[in-house]
Amino acid sequence: MSCLFCRIIEGSVPSRAVYQDEQCYAFADIDPRAPVHLLIVPREHIASIAQAGEEHKALLGHLQWVAAEIARREGLSNGYRTVINTGDDGGQTVSHVHLHLLGGRPMSWPPG
Ligand code: AMP
Ligand code: ZN
Repeated sequence: MSCLFCRIIEGSVPSRAVYQDEQCYAFADIDPRAPVHLLIVPREHIASIAQAGEEHKALLGHLQWVAAEIARREGLSNGYRTVINTGDDGGQTVSHVHLHLLGGRPMSWPPG
């Protein structure tokens, strides 16, 4: 298995878990860009949302709901940001869909 996030999901690469259910796994980003920086990944390997099919619509919505649920649990009552980088121009570096949840500080706009 060559995909880093698939190996994290199966446990052969260590991670700090913060949430998991039958559809997704959430863990701490190894290079945090905010006081709270978590990654929410589907258990199914999908390279990017550009490769997601209509059958994945509910799963993609579930990732966003999980982000909001984790944010509530982490006490991010002042707000937070969710980001999905896609492809080279989007800055995606790991080819397995992942939703960033960033919080604990004010975010600037637009992103770089
Ligand atoms: P992206 O650039 O949107 O593809 O995001 C990939 C993210 O994965 C980056 O924020 C990295 O810091 C993070 N990352 C890379 N390797 C690991 C790892 N072993 N454990 C946790 N996060 C990682
Ligand atoms: Zn994968």
